[in-house]
Amino acid sequence: MLANYGYKDGSGEYYITIDSDKCNGCGQCVEVCPGKVLAVGEDQNDPLSDDDVAYVVDEERKKIKYTCGPCKPASNRPELPCVAACEPEAIVHSW
Ligand code: SF4
Ligand code: SF4
Repeated sequence: MLANYGYKDGSGEYYITIDSDKCNGCGQCVEVCPGKVLAVGEDQNDPLSDDDVAYVVDEERKKIKYTCGPCKPASNRPELPCVAACEPEAIVHSW
């Protein structure tokens, strides 16, 4: 199941999508996230599941454009740390 966390404003759409079918709850993305945007816990979008999955913490959902800004690709930083750390490719950023 795809879970979208984020918002859109006048400048664009800012969403982090986590695919709970791919996420194995390993926590690697949490380890490498400098902004403390990500956490792992019970799947809030699927009450029937006991599996832990990654999600975006409540307090960051309305400001990921800013919190994630320093991670965005640059010549010396080709990939986002969270995306690079996720072996099953469960995380996608919309911008
Ligand atoms: S690194 Fe990928 S598989 Fe591991 S918890 Fe994060 S989203 Fe899930
Ligand atoms: S882009 Fe950076 S701050 Fe944003 S979720 Fe990924 S690792 Fe965390």
